Order: sequence, then C-alpha cells, then structure tokens
Amino acid sequence: MPTLADIVTELESRYDPRWAESWDAVGLVCGDPSAEVRRVLFAVDPVAVVAEEALDWGADLVVTHHPLYLRGTTSVAATTFKGRLVHTLIKNDIGLFTAHTNADVADPGVSDALARAVGLTGPLVPLSPAADDPRRGLGRVGSLPAPVPLAEFARQAARGLPATAGGLRVAGDPGRPVRRIAVSGGSGDSLLGTVRAAGVDVFLTADLRHHPASEFMEASDGPALIDAAHWATEWPWLADAARHLASASAAKGITVETRVSETVTDAWNTTAKCEDFT
Ligand SMILES: [Zn+2]
Repeated sequence: MPTLADIVTELESRYDPRWAESWDAVGLVCGDPSAEVRRVLFAVDPVAVVAEEALDWGADLVVTHHPLYLRGTTSVAATTFKGRLVHTLIKNDIGLFTAHTNADVADPGVSDALARAVGLTGPLVPLSPAADDPRRGLGRVGSLPAPVPLAEFARQAARGLPATAGGLRVAGDPGRPVRRIAVSGGSGDSLLGTVRAAGVDVFLTADLRHHPASEFMEASDGPALIDAAHWATEWPWLADAARHLASASAAKGITVETRVSETVTDAWNTTAKCEDFT
C-alpha cells in the first residue's frame, strides 16, 4: 500500500512545485505523509461538495487544481468554509494536495488536455514557453485537421468540454474559417498580447473581461476569441493527471485507484436569456 508521501513524490515528479508562480500555493495542504493511500479523487476546486464526494467514495487523498489557501492564514477554525473543509478532511483521514500553476506549465499540462478536448490534433507547442525549458509553458497552440467556420469550431469545443450553464461566448465573425488555435486553461487575459503575435485564428480561454476583449477585437484583424467557463477549461486535465498517477504507480508495482469528480463546481449555475431591446 503506497503512502501519501509516495503519491506526493509521484505527483511532484510530473508537476514540479518549482515551476509554480511565486504567488501560488501548491503541494500538500493537509494529510500525514505516512498515511496509506488507496483511493485518490481528482477535482478542480477544493469545495464542500468535493469533500463530500471524497467522503462518500472513501478517498484517502483529494488532488485539486485550485489552492484552498492562497494567502497567509492564521486559522483553520471551522468558522469559514475553508476551515470547515480542512476539518472534514482531517477528521476523515483524507489528504489534500494542490497542483496549480505548476500543472499549467507542465508538459503535458492543463492546456494540453484542453487542446485535445476541443479537437486539436497533431503537435502542440506552448503559447508562452517557459524561459528555462521551451517544451513547457503557458497555453498551447495547435491545429484542427481542416479549416472550419468559427461557429462550427465553437460548437465542437462546446461538445468537447463538460457542460456548464454559461456555455461558450464567441467574439468574431461566425463564418470566418479557422484552423490554427491557441488555448489556455483558466484565466487567459494576460496572454492576449502574446496571442496577437502568435498567428492563430482563435484564442479559447476563460474569464475574459469586457475591456480587454473589446480592445483586442477593435485593435486587430487578429484571432477570434472564445470564452468558456473557467472550471470547464481545466476539468479535462484531471483525467490526464489521474491516468498518469495510476500508470506511473502501476509501473512501480503500486496500485492506486483514481477517480475524476464530475461534479460541476463552476460558480455560474444558471443563465437568463436577454430580451431583444430594439
Ligand atoms: Zn483555474
């Protein structure tokens, strides 16, 4: 039976904590390194419903993409949802481990899984390569097998991603042919400048705000934009990380059972269609 320390070693060999941004908080949040780990649940968000799922399934470890605590904290009292989560996990001998920006820039990382989910084939290269190793980095650029109208690619991307209430929002001529695509899991605002210079037809990411998107579309005849739910753009990575942990452990004679949470933890859970104001 592997210990939590064994599992952490395996995860960190693929998602090196040194790759994380300086502001990030990755690694083990709670859990005893000597505890035995049989079942590992993968999820995007460390929230109550995920802890309940871990409890129901009998997980020994939850691996999430998003950190529970990002800034300094002086209390894990169960007076906040974060403290309650820590209590639930510790009382039930469940560890919590985070692979965040170190998983974003890994090879393969979060955006590789996103690229495959929306139908990109062939080689993928980082949109913004890491200075110390150009095989790693933020975002990925790849191609569709053949050009398709923007609207058709958006429909294909929507089919490839898990369903969320908000679906996808598209900026650009729906009929324009697109083939070369850039993607970035999570909030991709900061990559808009890089995208403009990347010679792609579309940039698919999440959390795009009005001003950056509007100015991007006004200022260039460059790529179209597709904005998806933050949770949905990162969810495809979970299966990749889970598969890797199971197979890398099996290669060492260690059996670990993995599961990907299918609970939608996107914050936006419903929409209302606007009426035509003309
Ligand atoms: Zn994220």
